Order: sequence, then structure tokens, then C-alpha cells
Amino acid sequence: MSNNNVYDVIIIGGGPAGFTAGIYAARASLKALLIEGATTVSQITVTDMIENYPGMPAGINGFELMQLFREQAAKFGLEITAGDVGALTRGHDNDRDTWKVQVGREYLTLAVIVATGANWRKIGVPGEAAFTGKGVSYCATCDGPFYRNKEVFVIGGGDTAIQEAIFLTNFAARVTVIHRRDRLRATKILQERALANNKISFLWNSVVDEIEGPDFVQKVRIRNLETGQTSSLAADGVFVFVGMTPNTELCRSLMELDKSGYIIADAQMQTSAPGIFAGGDCTSKLLRQVVTACGDGATAAFSAQRYIEDLKGESY
Ligand code: NAP
Repeated sequence: MSNNNVYDVIIIGGGPAGFTAGIYAARASLKALLIEGATTVSQITVTDMIENYPGMPAGINGFELMQLFREQAAKFGLEITAGDVGALTRGHDNDRDTWKVQVGREYLTLAVIVATGANWRKIGVPGEAAFTGKGVSYCATCDGPFYRNKEVFVIGGGDTAIQEAIFLTNFAARVTVIHRRDRLRATKILQERALANNKISFLWNSVVDEIEGPDFVQKVRIRNLETGQTSSLAADGVFVFVGMTPNTELCRSLMELDKSGYIIADAQMQTSAPGIFAGGDCTSKLLRQVVTACGDGATAAFSAQRYIEDLKGESY
């Protein structure tokens, strides 16, 4: 006899991929539980404005969009809990293979969808860790208002850095983007907006070697990579936006990851571990956007449903 407490699917992660998987799983009448991180901040909840999510011509605040995802999932009866998953291991329930999800207590499930997202990468220079929360930030939406009429530096040249630099001009007296190359990685539309913004200036071919205090950020030491020349500039805030690292520690010994640590999933969002599906920013992919995360979540839930029905000997 099998155990009634075994979930059909447990979704780990409370971002767009996780909640979309949850909506699809609950709507398909699977016994589904979504576990969102207790101590992690989902990237989307701190995104000021999402203007490329279809159907929202006026754009939408990331936190508000997440609230709508949650409301829709709850409407279909998705169980939701908060906790940081400590371990994901193989389990067994009578004659069936299951997975064990450890989060304070232990849950058994037939299938798992990993949608744990990615976290902000650090530049790893002296002063970065010491002044985090004291002038060093990874979230303009959270901390931007503290820098009204202040001198702010943004490190990075991707979409995030440029979008957040533009956002920071709502508060700061001046925003200086420090980029290690002589051209931006960000999409053209964002580049054009930033280059046309007279509050934003650029330091090209440059890196930060040190962030200095003593109690709160006061200076950044910058090195020009072409000339080798260094300079120390007065700074009130340093915002670091140099990409992401995937939250895939749980999965490292269970499935195939790419060389940057992102989960390799096929077009059905199946990982190399049977019964584990994955989607969103934690997976190896070309484009990490809300809309692509949602697509992954839907596919992962559908694939999980087929896998579960196979295990139970039902047809789909
Ligand atoms: P990203 O595209 O990987 O860009 C990271 C930037 O940081 C690059 O300019 C990179 O320089 C620089 N960088 C990396 N390591 C560095 C280091 N150690 N020191 C100094 N600079 C360093 O990351 P992202 O901007 O966070 O974007 C992540 C994903 O989200 C992308 O797919 C992006 O398109 C997407 N996104 C989209 C939007 C939007 O559509 N509105 C908004 C935000 C994010 P190089 O250019 O020299 O490599």
C-alpha cells in the first residue's frame, strides 16, 4: 500500500517558473506543494518595472506580478509553504521510487520541479563584503531611495546594470557606470536610454579594485584596464550588477549541470535525474526572462504530470 502523504509533485522555488508550474500542477488536480525560500529574495520581487511581459502594456512592478501569480495558484488549490530546502535525496514508498525533500520536516514526493532561480554574483574585491548594506547594494529597488542626491556607481554592462542605472537616476545626483569593456552587453533600447540620460556617465575599460570606508562607503578605487592608471573617486553608493550564479547546490550530486553550474534540462524540462524537472533561471538556457521562466514552469509541470501518471499506471 502506498502512503497518502506522498505528494505527486513538489516545486522548489517561488519565482515565476515555480508559481507557473504550481498553477499548472494544481489545475491538473495533482497533489502539489510549492516550497518558496524563507531567507532568499526572488529577483522578480525586487524588480521595479517589467515592461516586456506580454499583455501588460503599461508594465508591472515585479512584486505586484508575483502577488498575482500567487493569487492565481491559490485559486487552484496549490499548497504553499516557506522554508529553505536543506536536502533533496532519493526515497522509496513501497514499490515506488520517490524523492525526499528536507525542509525542517521531510516530505515524500513522486516528482520534483526545481525552480530555485539564481543569485547576484559578487565582484570579490576588498570592501565589497564589509560594506554590503553600508553603501554596497545588489538591489536598486530596495536601496535606491537611500541615495537621494548622492554620488552612485553601478558596476556592470548587462541589461540589469543599465536598467538599474536608469532607475537610480530617479534618486541619485549622478550615476557612473563602470564597465570592464568599451561597449555594453545590454540590449540596444536600454543602451540608447542610458546614453541619452544626462545623469548617467560611463567609465569604460575599467574595474573596481577596492571599495573604501571606514564606516560607510566613501570611495571606490578604479583601474583603467588599458592604461593601468588607478584613481580614487568619492562615492556614496556602489551597486553591483555583474550577472548571476545559479542556486543549484541541492542538485550538484544528483544531475548534470553545465560548466557554470546551471541545470541541464531537455526541451521537456526533464533533468538527468528521473522524476526531477527544472525550469527558470536555474537552468542552462539562452534567455532568462519572466516570460521564458513561465514557459519552462508550464512545460515542467506537464512533463511531471505525464511522469506521475506513468508511475501510477494511469493514461494521459
Ligand atoms: P549579464 O547579461 O551576464 O551581464 C553581466 C555584466 O557584468 C556584463 O556586462 C559583464 O561584462 C559584467 N561582469 C561580469 N562579471 C564581472 C566582473 N567580475 N567584474 C566586472 N564586470 C563583470 O547579467 P545581467 O545583466 O544580470 O542579466 C542576466 C539575464 O537577465 C540576461 O539574460 C538579461 O538579458 C536578463 N535581463 C533582462 C532584462 C530586460 O530585458 N529588461 C533586465 C534584466 C536582466 P561583459 O559584458 O564584459 O561580459
